[in-house]
Amino acid sequence: MKVHIKTYGCQMNKYDSELISGLLKSDDFELIDDIEKADAVLVNTCAVREHAENRALSNISQLQNLKKRKPGMILGVLGCMSKHLGDKIFEDKTYVDLVLGPDSYRKLPEILNSKKRYKDIESRYDESYTDIFPTRKEGISAWVAISRGCDEECSYCIVPFTRGKERSRPVNNIIDEIKRLLDEGFKEVTLIGQNVNSYNYNGLDFPELLEKVSGIEGLKRIRFATSHPMNLSDRLIDVMAEEKTVCPYLHLPVQSGSNKILKAMKRSYTVEKYIEITEKAKIKIKDLAITTDIISGFPGESEDDHKLNVDLVKRVEFDGGFTFKYSPRDKTEAYTFGDDVPEKVKIRRLKEISEVLRECALKKNREWIGKVTEIMIEGKSKRDNSEVFGRTGGFKKVILKHNNLSVSTIIPVLIKNATSQTLFGELIEYSYPPKADPPPAEE
Ligand code: SAM
Ligand code: SF4
Repeated sequence: MKVHIKTYGCQMNKYDSELISGLLKSDDFELIDDIEKADAVLVNTCAVREHAENRALSNISQLQNLKKRKPGMILGVLGCMSKHLGDKIFEDKTYVDLVLGPDSYRKLPEILNSKKRYKDIESRYDESYTDIFPTRKEGISAWVAISRGCDEECSYCIVPFTRGKERSRPVNNIIDEIKRLLDEGFKEVTLIGQNVNSYNYNGLDFPELLEKVSGIEGLKRIRFATSHPMNLSDRLIDVMAEEKTVCPYLHLPVQSGSNKILKAMKRSYTVEKYIEITEKAKIKIKDLAITTDIISGFPGESEDDHKLNVDLVKRVEFDGGFTFKYSPRDKTEAYTFGDDVPEKVKIRRLKEISEVLRECALKKNREWIGKVTEIMIEGKSKRDNSEVFGRTGGFKKVILKHNNLSVSTIIPVLIKNATSQTLFGELIEYSYPPKADPPPAEE
């Protein structure tokens, strides 16, 4: 059976699609890119914002036409939206054959073979897919899930409902998966979870896990996402500072710059605490880059609260960030608060925050001009065949003129120019393997 998977949403969802590919790795199934040739189309969905759900729903409606042309085709809806709206989808959209929540993928091969209509959106706390090895397709950094679900209760967020309670994956299992990735040629991994730094497996916490993973021979770079500010401990900062393979990069969603709104969001820290943590981390971790998420237009957000968002971005000087318009999600606590910030105001505030984030990113990127940094090559530049691009430890994209550097090579480059999105570099003389510390830039 030929299977096509379409994925919406975050890294975790992309990872789940790789897990599903791993589950379907048998003689019975072939994963294909060409949807027209597929016997089964699986749509792996996101429910974090209404917009994400609407996109997936419209895609599913369009697939009805494909099904009309190919009557035997199986159409499956998977992921967070299945958990959220699965009952309704299964009832109303009779052309949808399968509805499976994030804890029900294990049955997929059997269900596809049975060709029966089927729905399972149960939460299973004991399901971590620990024994399944995902099949990777894209990128040079392989995602490795270290936990599933989330125990936080952020008042706006549907994830604890769609993905259930947090469960940490056994350490040995994580290490085995990384070793296997190294055998496949990966040199970089990104440890993922909704709240990676609350990882705890039988008393072994995230800093300790990072140390263990750093010790894996052949692994050049380790990234992780997403971190919760409350769990960014001093020990984690120390491990990041000490372990050379751990990239100096933190994605640390702040969500709001107003204490009033943070309290209503149930984020369990204050703006002052957030600033203290990020300053401590910047002092200890050389060349640390910090990015964030901010929600604009949360219920009750006044113009003053919005100004505090802008002030915080300027104060922390983020290297980049994602801004989201608040989207009310039923089943969450904030849903009961109403949605009192008018759409127009939300959009204007979102634009203002994005603009300040862009200015900060430009400033931070320009600070690199004249300095030398190491990048890992990711591939050829799309706009010019004589250029390649790579990423710094701080996850900044660097483009340089060269047409003969293989993917995953780590090289030192001198940064010559910068925009808010990209650095432009020049290869400097180096002997490979590079020395631990790249040579200083010439004036
Ligand atoms: N676990 C991560 C964390 O704690 O930051 C990220 C989870 S969520 C998939 C990614 C981002 O979506 C969040 O950081 C938040 O900014 C945003 N988000 C979540 N719920 C939202 C909502 N109801 N409306 C708008 N944005 C939302
Ligand atoms: Fe959602 Fe908060 Fe958990 Fe992140 S930490 S997934 S925002 S509940």
